[in-house]
Amino acid sequence: MKSLRYYLCATMSHTHSPDSEFQSPPAIPDIQDASAPFDDVRADIILRSCDGIDFRVFKNILSVASPVFADMFDLSHPPSANNTRETRHGLPVFVLSEDARTLDRLLRFCYPVRSPQLKNLGDIRLLLEAIRKYCMDVFDDHLNHALSEAIDRDPVAVFAIASRFELGDIATKAALRTVWLPFSLLNSPEMKHAPVEHILLLMQFHALCGEAASAVTMRRDWFIKCPLLVEDRRFCDWCCVADASGSSWWGNRTLWIALQKEGQSLSCHPWFNAAKPLIKTGPPCFYCGGPSVTSLAAFKRCFSNAVDKAVATVPVPKF
Ligand SMILES: [Zn+2]
Repeated sequence: MKSLRYYLCATMSHTHSPDSEFQSPPAIPDIQDASAPFDDVRADIILRSCDGIDFRVFKNILSVASPVFADMFDLSHPPSANNTRETRHGLPVFVLSEDARTLDRLLRFCYPVRSPQLKNLGDIRLLLEAIRKYCMDVFDDHLNHALSEAIDRDPVAVFAIASRFELGDIATKAALRTVWLPFSLLNSPEMKHAPVEHILLLMQFHALCGEAASAVTMRRDWFIKCPLLVEDRRFCDWCCVADASGSSWWGNRTLWIALQKEGQSLSCHPWFNAAKPLIKTGPPCFYCGGPSVTSLAAFKRCFSNAVDKAVATVPVPKF
């Protein structure tokens, strides 16, 4: 038997249009049973997901995990949104707004079974919603850990989720990691769940990092440690040219060209490795042979350090 409450759950999620009264009601799937361990015939209540899956569970276990569940399962309360007084298999049915996928993971946290693997960031967001709704803060650490582990994989999505749930430390770590992405990739389906002011702060932070990283190519203070750049001396009559900015530094022609290109690249992608492919040796010099592989690697290290230090000076917003 399909409950009225379940019907309402399904219809409330349907987008109404002015002529919706003339449309057919949305199809309601048949109620199905969850798989083990939520099919135990010894269970004493049923939790029904909003997509029509019944989970047979033990209310004592869930009542310990969640004061909200404990209150919900008190049958002395009058019928409510969750408790419709419907029964199935002789057990009271409680209708929840979570879908079966989220409910399955939530219940596995409560049960003495292996904790669910949390790789999908959408799942983590829905679970964070659920554990807050049901006051199950005891599982925060587990979800925060899963969220932190995903920073390298998808920093923008992690930032969005952490911002939504006011997880400032994780949002900050994710924001710092976004400099590994170009500005054009600062998007994710999860961003629509983040506070707009935090999204703007992230964009501003990334842009400021880009400015700081790009400015490194205009500075000359870090040249002192670079083996390919020499002050006040033209070391090769063929490939060595003066700094076009008017400083006293001399260097290989291709190096100056690369620095100019990197300035543009770093402004929207403030991560040295993004510019690395631009730094190449030019054609071998007939007179001096051009930059050696070793000296070029040393130059990249100097450049990388200067970029990292410049980006590190950008104040990180409070998320
Ligand atoms: Zn040369």
